[in-house]
Amino acid sequence: MILTINCGSSTLKYQLFTSDVAQVVAKGMISRIGEDGSYFEQAAHGRSVKESATIPNHHKAFEICIQSLLHPDYGAIHDMNEIEAVGHRAVHGADLFIASTRIDDEVIAKMEACVPLAPLHNPPNLIGIREAQALLPNVPHVAVFDTAFNQTMPPKAYIYALPYSFYEEHKIRKYGFHGTSVRFVSQRAAEVLQRPLTSLKMVVLHLGNGVTMTAVDGGQAVDTTIGFATFSGVMMGTRSGDIDPGLIFHMHRELGLSPDEIERIVYKESGLLGVSGISNDMRVIAEQAQAGNQRCQLAMDKFAFMAKKYLGAFAAAMGGLDCVVFTAGIGENSPIIRQMICQDLAFLGISLDEAKNKQAVGGKAEVVISEVAAGTAVLVIPTNEEKMIALDTKEIAGL
Ligand code: ADP
Repeated sequence: MILTINCGSSTLKYQLFTSDVAQVVAKGMISRIGEDGSYFEQAAHGRSVKESATIPNHHKAFEICIQSLLHPDYGAIHDMNEIEAVGHRAVHGADLFIASTRIDDEVIAKMEACVPLAPLHNPPNLIGIREAQALLPNVPHVAVFDTAFNQTMPPKAYIYALPYSFYEEHKIRKYGFHGTSVRFVSQRAAEVLQRPLTSLKMVVLHLGNGVTMTAVDGGQAVDTTIGFATFSGVMMGTRSGDIDPGLIFHMHRELGLSPDEIERIVYKESGLLGVSGISNDMRVIAEQAQAGNQRCQLAMDKFAFMAKKYLGAFAAAMGGLDCVVFTAGIGENSPIIRQMICQDLAFLGISLDEAKNKQAVGGKAEVVISEVAAGTAVLVIPTNEEKMIALDTKEIAGL
């Protein structure tokens, strides 16, 4: 079996797959590591458990993960040896990793070198790798990088028009994120359409709490909305998306806000929450807009407008468009947002089948929601980053 690990600063999510990655045997999450009120939950073989526990650190979290998987009542395996390989979600691989890779000391050293680029994400990923390696020292461990898929972007897409030395000396460039999700849904979309991925010009809209849009030409990322940090592109739950960078100087000099305060504002108090003043959750925003709340309506309008503009920009960047894919929380569940983004794009061959669009909710099915005669296919494909990680792990571990 293959264990996938997604280790964040205060959470550890894991899934256990059969070796052929056809089935999820167990799924678990350990929450609030190192905080008050920590707990763990797991579902396996139709049985589930959710219990509070003292979990002061990641070491304890991994112990609980293995104990839960082995548990005689609600566990999934009888012996640790049933785990044949471990796949780790890794956030930032900079330009050092263009694909998933088997982890050895050199890989860990390179990941450590990437820490300054992702100071919040890479350190817990590395802790997760070390803890898992200590518990399962005799099986292959594989790192699957969120940034790897975007490494095919050409220099004209990833370079910022700053003095070139910032790129050469400080690695300042566009990296992009959500690559594992985008790779998964782009492959699935080609399967659903029964067309080779290499023949498709595709825009993937990963619309979750975080938002990434990526232009995928022939299966390769050619441009993406998130850049060096994680707030450019389309507005998100609490992040602003694109703003005029000049505003940051203005907020600092004229409004007296410190860099830390500005960072908090653009990451945590902006986006849907900032414009609506109510919530970062599109469900709440849509309900309130329906009830007549103007600011919620504006938040939705702005969100859809930003996404629509990138859709057009990416079609232009690729010189065509065959397929549009919606995924993640909003993309999989919000017919209204999909409709707002796709409205008036007939000139790009986009025309939604209203009934199919309305039915595509719940994140379960892969569905084509465009009209049969439309030149550009529009699909809803539920994302599954864990499955992509497990598939890469299977391949690299040679299972
Ligand atoms: P993350 O980026 O944290 O993985 P998800 O992909 O799970 O996030 O997306 C979470 C977001 O999806 C929620 O904040 C909410 O805005 C949105 N969402 C979930 N269900 C619905 C729904 N039925 N209608 C509209 N938006 C939804």
